[in-house]
Amino acid sequence: MSETSSDFDYDLFTIGAGSGGVRASRVASAHGAKVAIAEEHRVGGTCVIRGCVPKKMLVYGAHFAEDLEDCRRFGWEIEGKRFDWKTLRDNVLDDVTRLEGAYTNTLENHDVEIFKQRATITGPNEITLGDGTKVTAKHILIATGAHPRMPECQGAEHAISSNEAFHLDELPKKIIIAGGGYIANEFAGIFNELGCDVHVVNRGDRLLRSYDEGVRDRLLQISTMKGIKFRFNTTFEYIKPCDDGGFFVKLSDCDEEKADLVMFAVGRIPNTKGLGLEAAGVELGDNGEVKVDRFSKTNVDHIYAVGDVTDRVQLTPVAIREGQAFADTLFGGGDPVAVDHSCIPSAVFSHPPIAAVGMTEGEAKNKLGSVKVYLSDFRPMKNVLAGRNERSLIKMICDASNDKIVGIHMIAPDAPEMMQAAAIAVKAGLTKADFDATTAIHPTMAEELVLMK
Ligand code: NDP
Repeated sequence: MSETSSDFDYDLFTIGAGSGGVRASRVASAHGAKVAIAEEHRVGGTCVIRGCVPKKMLVYGAHFAEDLEDCRRFGWEIEGKRFDWKTLRDNVLDDVTRLEGAYTNTLENHDVEIFKQRATITGPNEITLGDGTKVTAKHILIATGAHPRMPECQGAEHAISSNEAFHLDELPKKIIIAGGGYIANEFAGIFNELGCDVHVVNRGDRLLRSYDEGVRDRLLQISTMKGIKFRFNTTFEYIKPCDDGGFFVKLSDCDEEKADLVMFAVGRIPNTKGLGLEAAGVELGDNGEVKVDRFSKTNVDHIYAVGDVTDRVQLTPVAIREGQAFADTLFGGGDPVAVDHSCIPSAVFSHPPIAAVGMTEGEAKNKLGSVKVYLSDFRPMKNVLAGRNERSLIKMICDASNDKIVGIHMIAPDAPEMMQAAAIAVKAGLTKADFDATTAIHPTMAEELVLMK
């Protein structure tokens, strides 16, 4: 271990026990550092407690609606089927509690001391806990994540964010969701499958801005077909409670309408307020994010930050990598490790899901000039037999000068599962010819990847 000091209570004090903070703390401890972590909410952070994990469980639960409809064509007749929101909700929340326990155990098993209270930086190398206790640490890691942005429209306080969506007493008959990004599309899919009347309202003219136009258009088309209503270039003017429950909502392009629930999904803001960062001299960016170098170090020598709070790429696996690299660099005794933020695969768990890696067609054309695009637009076998008129799309973008694959984009059932493997090939710089040389697994959707002409 390269750096520890008995002049301090701890070698490392981490603020925030989410994905990045937990990984950094347990790895630092495994390297021999004396580590403590503070968490004011629940151990596990956004991903485990109110994000990726419970969301994916809701996606599974919601998708049964289609499977139960399609099953008739496969010979299954299920009488008296009924959906009970509270059963799904409570089972999901129970599993979240189980996972919180598993994360806590991981920290404890690695001898990381857990303070279940808020922590703020109150002096050089000094942290003050919620109960007034002061401790010192040679290094401080900020891993406090981000929180949902709530726009400043009149009555915005009546709207929920994704945080509350997991705890609803009952499902709304009609929900208006603001936003056109990850959370808006994922929850629009969940609520729609579960039988709600879903209206998505976006301030701009496109969904999922960073994704390839082809897959974005396909998602819009399929979502519309499934019954989700979209409004673009529209903003919220006010939200007012109605006497008999629900809300009156006034949007910029239409008359006041009634909804049972309004949800904002318009981005997330780094949690940097009230942490003592300004007083400590830590430089923050325009969105309040902690500015860091490639080794996650701030402009203050002993203060570091990883995960959503740095607003680099707000994805759990990225936060985990940043936490790991930070701990290895500071306490591993080897060469410094920087996280490579290029070519990160991602997915949107809509119905059907989207997955992508690398450049979109537009980005590739701008950057490379000449590109080759291969396209497979097909109806998955299961959809054909189910009589479901829902087509999938796989798009491969290659650099025309050397045949290298620079991007793959998909919208298809299980697209994220296919993409994880395909992303290895793109990251490794493989060519279209390498894919062509691979024998297909038949019959699968993934075989399209090696059969595109
Ligand atoms: P996104 O950044 O995905 O989308 C934000 C949406 O809100 C965009 O449509 C944006 O419009 C719009 N918007 C932004 N600011 C405002 C505003 N002030 N008023 C009205 N609309 C606004 O954010 P999400 O909240 O959906 O998700 C937050 C982050 O969490 C994501 O960026 C992602 O990194 C992560 N996440 C990842 C998931 C996954 O990996 N599957 C799932 C859920 C979240 P415009 O396009 O015009 O900017």
